[in-house]
Order: sequence, then C-alpha cells, then structure tokens
Amino acid sequence: MAKTKAAKAVATKGKYVYQFGKKTDGNGSMKPLLGGKGANLAEMCRIGLPVPPGFTITTEVCTYYYDHKRTYPSALRAQMEAGITALERQTGKKFDDLKNPLLVSVRSGARDSMPGMMDTILNLGLNDQTVEALARKTGNPRFAWDCYRRFVQMYGDVVLGVQKRPDEDHEPFEMVIEALKHERYHQDIEDTKLTVDDLKELVARFKALVKDRVGRKFPASPWDQLLGAVGAVFGSWMNDRAIVYRRKYNIPTEWGTAVNVQAMVYGNTGDQSGSGVAFTRNPANGVKEFYGEFLINAQGEDVVAGVRTPEPVAELKKHLPKAYHELERIRQNLERHFKDVQDFEFTIENGVVYMLQTRNGKRTAMAALKFSMDMQKEKLIDWKTAIGRNPADQLDQLLAPVFDAATLGKMTPIATGLPAGPGAASGRIYLNADRAVAAAAKGEQVLLVRLETSPEDLRGMIAAEGILTARGGVSSHAALVARQMGKVCVCGAAAVEVDYQARTVSVDRRSFKEGDWMSIDGTAGKVYAGQVKTAPSEIVAGLVDGDAAARKTEKFKNFQQLMKWCDAATRMTVRTNADTPEQTKAAIAFGAVGIGLCRTEHMFFEGDRIDAMREMILAETLEARKAALAKLLPYQRDDFAGIFRALKGFPATIRFLDPPLHEFLPQTPEQQADLAKKLRVPVDRIQSRVNQLHEFNPMLGLRGCRLGIDYPEISAMQARAVFEAAAIVQKEGIKVRPEIMIPLVGFKKELDLQLDVVHQAARDVQAERKVKLNYMVGTMIEIPRGALTADEIARSAEFFSFGTNDLTQTALGMSRDDSGSFLPHYAELEIVKKNPFATIDASGVGQLVEVAVEKGRQTRPNIKLGICGEHGGDPASIHFFEKVGLDYVSCSPYRVPVARLAAAQAALSTKAGD
Ligand code: PEP
Ligand code: MG
Repeated sequence: MAKTKAAKAVATKGKYVYQFGKKTDGNGSMKPLLGGKGANLAEMCRIGLPVPPGFTITTEVCTYYYDHKRTYPSALRAQMEAGITALERQTGKKFDDLKNPLLVSVRSGARDSMPGMMDTILNLGLNDQTVEALARKTGNPRFAWDCYRRFVQMYGDVVLGVQKRPDEDHEPFEMVIEALKHERYHQDIEDTKLTVDDLKELVARFKALVKDRVGRKFPASPWDQLLGAVGAVFGSWMNDRAIVYRRKYNIPTEWGTAVNVQAMVYGNTGDQSGSGVAFTRNPANGVKEFYGEFLINAQGEDVVAGVRTPEPVAELKKHLPKAYHELERIRQNLERHFKDVQDFEFTIENGVVYMLQTRNGKRTAMAALKFSMDMQKEKLIDWKTAIGRNPADQLDQLLAPVFDAATLGKMTPIATGLPAGPGAASGRIYLNADRAVAAAAKGEQVLLVRLETSPEDLRGMIAAEGILTARGGVSSHAALVARQMGKVCVCGAAAVEVDYQARTVSVDRRSFKEGDWMSIDGTAGKVYAGQVKTAPSEIVAGLVDGDAAARKTEKFKNFQQLMKWCDAATRMTVRTNADTPEQTKAAIAFGAVGIGLCRTEHMFFEGDRIDAMREMILAETLEARKAALAKLLPYQRDDFAGIFRALKGFPATIRFLDPPLHEFLPQTPEQQADLAKKLRVPVDRIQSRVNQLHEFNPMLGLRGCRLGIDYPEISAMQARAVFEAAAIVQKEGIKVRPEIMIPLVGFKKELDLQLDVVHQAARDVQAERKVKLNYMVGTMIEIPRGALTADEIARSAEFFSFGTNDLTQTALGMSRDDSGSFLPHYAELEIVKKNPFATIDASGVGQLVEVAVEKGRQTRPNIKLGICGEHGGDPASIHFFEKVGLDYVSCSPYRVPVARLAAAQAALSTKAGD
C-alpha cells in the first residue's frame, strides 16, 4: 500500500473511475462523489492502512444512469477497463484467467452509510473454468468451490432477483442448502462442514434454480458479470428498502450511490483466516473497549448476516494473536486519524489483516454521550465538537423509561442475549414484519421477534417498540439498525426458538403465540415473559424527582455536562409549553427558562370546571356569562399562582382563550341532558344553543381573539385572574413576569381592542391590591395576514410568538387535524419532504416567519421574538429559527433537553457559516 501524501484530490470532469491502492486518486473529503465507503477506502490507503486495491465508480454515474434511461456515460467502459488492468498489475492476477484468476467484490456506497440497505456481490469472476484455476492455484478446492457457491447465490439473489416470494419465509437458495443437508446428512450441519462434492452439487442446483426462476442461464463471462453487478448496485438505489430507509433518514434521492470494485481477499481459506466487524469503542454503551466480532474461516457477509453467531473480537487474541495485535494497532490509528469512533470491516487471509471499510460508527444516544465526553477528556476533540457528536433527535432515548428495578428484582429472565439496543420495551410479539406493522397500526405495542432480521424487516422494526432475535451478534443487521433507530434490541438470544409456520416462540419449554406479551431489556440483554413495569430513566429521576442515587450515575453527570456546554454555546434560549405547575416544574428541571405558551383553555377540562366553562359558552346574556365567568375566575387565579410559584421568577407567556368552540360543547344527547340537569335548564335550550354555535369549520371559526372581541368580558376575567395571581405571588416575595398573549391576530385593531381590556384589568388590580406589576402584552403570529402586516401589529405588540401550527395550517390551507389522511402519500410522492406540521416548511411558511421578523423589528427594534408551535421541539426547525434570529423556542417539557441541544448546535453551525 502506498503512503501517498494526503493531498486534496478534487473531482475531475469526465472522470468516472477513481482508483485506490498503489495509486490513490480520491480522499476522505470526497464523500459526495465517491460515497462514504469509497472516500474512506481512499483515505485509509493514504494513511498507510492495508487495503486491497480497487476503484470507485462515482455517484455521478448513478445520477447519469437514472437520467438516461438506465444507461452509462460512454467513457465509463474504458475507465473501468483501465481500473481492472491496474488491479491486475497490483495483484499479479488476471480477470478470467485460467492460471491465477482475479476475483473482485462489487459493493454499493452512498454518501451516508445505509447499512444493509443495498446490495453487495463477492467473488465475482468465477465460472466453471476459473473455479478450477482457483482450486489449483490455492491448492484448496474446498475454498474455491465455497467461493463459487457463494458467488452464484449472491449474484442470483442480488443481480438476477431470485429472492423469496411474499408467501415464503426463507430465501430460496437457503432452502436448497437446507434440502441438501437433510438429504445427505439428515440434519442441519454447519456450512463449514460441507464437502467439495456438496458444494459442487449446490452450484449445480443453484444454477438450475436461477434458470428455473429467471428463464436464462447464469452468466459465465466475468465482464458480463461485472457489468450486471454494477447495474444491480445502481438499481438497488431505487429498491423498496433503500427508499424506505432514505425516507426515514431524509437522505435525498439525488445523492445516488457509488460502486466500489475491489480485489477479493479471502477470509474463508481455512482456520488461519476469518472476517470480522469491529468498533473502536462499544457503540451500545460507549465504553472504551475494542468491541466487535469475527468468524474464523468465513467471508464478511457471514458475520453481518447473523446466520452464524460470531465470537467476540477479544477471542481473536487466542486464535490469531498476531492478527489481533495488528487490529489493535489499526484501531488506535483509526481514532487518531478520524477523531471519531469507527466501525470497520476486516478480513484476515492466512494470518494477514486487510481493511475493507471504515466509517463513523452508528451509536446509541447513550454511547454518543459517553464518546463525546471521553474523547473531549482525551483531547481528541474540543467541547464544541463534543456537542455536535450528540444527535439532537436521538437525545430523548436517554430520557426513555427503563424497567422498574424493584419489579425486575422479582422476575427471572427466560432468556439472555446480547444487549444491542439499550432501554426497556414490552409488547405483544409478532414474528413477521407485515403483521407487526398491521398490529402497530391498530395501536398495539409490538415486539418483533425473528430468528434474524434482514433489510426486508425494516418496516416491522420501525413499527415495533423493540426487537428480539434468536441468532446474530452485535453487528448483525438487527443490532445495527436498532442502534440507529434507537430501538430497544436484544439479539442472539439462542434459547428463543422461533417457529414461523406455527407463529409461536418457545423458550425454556414455555410457548408464546403471536399477540402474547414479552419484555426485553436491551441494556442488560435479558428477555422476560409478560409485561414488565417501567421506571423513569436516571436523568429524569435525577432532574425531575431529585433522586440522589440517579444523580451519581455517569449517565446523569455526562448529561449535565453536555447541557452546560450547550448553555455556553447557545444564542436562543428554550422555554416550555406548559399549562400546570407540575409540567412547569419538570420543564424548569430540564433547563427551560420560562413558559413560552400556557394554553389557558387546557385549564378548563379538569373536574367540574368544564361545567362552568360550558355554562359560560352557552350563556345567552351578558349577565349569565358574567355569572359563569365569576365561577371560573378563582380556578384560573389559583392555576396561575401555582405556575408563577413554580417558575420562580422566570417569565410566563399566557395565551388567552383559544378553543375551537366545539371542543367545549356538550355534543351527545347524554352530555346535553347531564348539563341541563346541572344548570337546571330545559335540555332543548341547550340543544338549540349548541345548534346555534355549530360551525362548519371550527378551526377557522370563532376562535382566538375573535372570541374575546365578541365577548370582552371573557378576556377581562382572564386578565384579572392573571394579575390577581401575580399580585398574590409577588407579595410572597417571588418575582412574577406575566406576558399576556392575544392569539390569532390578523389585524392591528383586533389586538388594540384586547389591549384596552387587559390594561384596564391591570390598572384595576394594581389599584385594588396596591401593587405595581411588571407585565407585557403581545401577540401570536399564526395567520398569514398577521405575518404580512407585522410592522403595523408591532406598534401595539411588545412581543411576537410564532404559532407555527396554525401558521402552517393557514399558509398551506391544510387542516392540522385532517391532513394525516393524505400527508403520508404526499411524503411518498415527495411533494413534501417532511411532514410540515413536524418540521417547518422553511421555503413556504418559513418565509412568513422571516417577513414578520423583519417587519416586526423595523417597527420595534427590540421586540421579543419566540416560537411556540410544535416545531419548537424539532431539531431541524430549530436550526431554521436560529438562522432567522428568534430569541427563544418553546416546546413541551420533555423536549426541552432536545431543544437545548439543537439550539446550541444551530448556534455553532450558524456561526460556522453552514
Ligand atoms: C400554534 O398555532 O402554533 C399554537 C401554538 O397554538 P395552538 O396549537 O394552541 O393553536
Ligand atoms: Mg394556534
């Protein structure tokens, strides 16, 4: 391997093939062009790691392929031929040679790794002649025929599409293997026990299977094989599982994949060889240990497929000590160079280690947190980089419940496996992805149980609370995907017997059928029968419940350190959407610095308050309404006082009543009869008032400030309740900072009318109670007219809070309640890239926000600007709000840590100019 200087290679027009090995064209920064795998193979060559030579066909070819009816640029073939010639020169082998044949692997490699989502072909170049040449050259016919058997199987599956049909539970090639084993050995023997004759027979049967399923012969020419394989990799970019994966992780289709063609090295030549997958640190819990697994006498695919359960990498020290020490050295080098935890694949061929891939390792939130803290202490990274190493949208994994220790103490696990995805999950078991998805759609809590998972199971894994597999190690597909999705996962629980036909699972002579409950502890790797009670995570216990033991845990301390750094990096602050003192306390414990939205209508659903509320809404005269309001006033005042106390001096944005009216009306005849009895009025009066108030489109009806404008006495009562509570709590010596917010304002005049009512109440209460109160009045910007006339509105409003839920609803003309029926289809068609009610539609709704920010500041330069729609807890939206320069975001209490992290990351990346 050549030690080339790490010069910055750049993309060259018309260059479709980049070599690596003795001569290396690319480098690690070229991921968009070479894909993650290709760029890092080049980088590893540059730092002198042992990489078998090869070349990368760029992602531009993938784009070309789809733009030109699945054809290639004309210059590609010649560049590939030059690539193969370079491989032949470096290896001393020749493609399609009858003495020393060159075999290659063909692998996909997108910019971001998509584990197991795309297709790989190994041992390409074998046919009935070259297999004999390989046997002669290596003196190892078993090895040669094993390679050939694997090649026909992989190529048949991936390129020729011989795959399991919807009604089959097993791959057709595996069924052929199983049939042969039973025919010849009457039992399920290991693949390594198959003889040359068995393998020859398998190759023949595989070819017959291919002929039968696809109607043509298996291609014998290596060049035909290579072109077919390259086409299949590009084709796999658009396969169903790749599309599902991209949608979940928001990977743009335009990126395309690269293809890597690389000289084969063999982990299956005997017991001095093997293949493995390893992480430079433990990706499940973050511990700094060499972590991974290997199989002796196997090719890489065997390790990740989860068919044979591999051994932990530490065991390699016993089997092949020299190779183990070489790997240890590589492990250190990788971290020193890439400055992040690496997930790498290696092959040992007759005692010599080769690197096949390295990439930043996927990790659980728990591991990400520990890595970031430890690497900062080790001075591999600085504290700002450490913040960025914690994905904000994964952080809530750390807050997820764990099994209740007391309950668990009384239970015995029924099986033990590998702890592949931490956390606790209980669910009804399902053995197939489709049935798991269907059950989850019906609202069931689901646990997906499989012998092993494959990429086809992805939908089921997404739908499930947790995943349990009987086979496979910590780098099996199930483990990898679970880790990335933050799913609880136990894998390789060998005692679990899965019967797909009978749809049952047996463990230790107990039988479970689909729909029965099981629980898994992905932190300890334990499996339990039935449903197990859960308890809050150490972070929640430490912060919210003040649990002293929880506060001493490493997880808690690391979390606190991260939040401290976030505070040092952030520009925006984080408030919370809370309506009760309990919610407020939790949010403050999580680091919120005030309430950004207190929805007062939520305070009216409790106990008999709803009756007073209904009485108020149904009242036909001012007197009757005032009488009902008088009943509501003390409730409101007490609630506000409780919230002010919980806030301990932090500000509270209190929004006046904004109910879609129908939410409060007694709709059913029983509710109406019940209310009539309570209010001692005839039921038909109630019915006729309900009819009178009926709206065709309540979301666009008498809501928000329109209610207070029609009935100013409602706003007057609310203002009085706020100020009386403020006066009471202030007298207790607690600072109080109410910010009254008028909702759904589209015209300045609407706000002005409400301002009069609020200021009058403030004057009254201050005079009555002889206090001076410090308060503000502002508005929500949540309909387009409000945003477009923000300069006028800012003359009266001291602050704006963007109600992006309604702003999205009204700007898109899509009901926030009803859009669920068509938005998923819109996402599939990529009309919308993400659900606009979850992530701000930056180019549409976002423009309204930008306009309002600019116009608001024109009128009132120091106007306070925040956001309190659901987008306030969404990391991608938070990046947008940082860019437009809001002062704070507000979100639900349990999203506060996520928002703090996202706000800090947004500040750092905006400063860096991204
Ligand atoms: C909004 O519209 O974004 C908002 C926060 O108000 P609500 O969700 O209560 O309508
Ligand atoms: Mg709203």
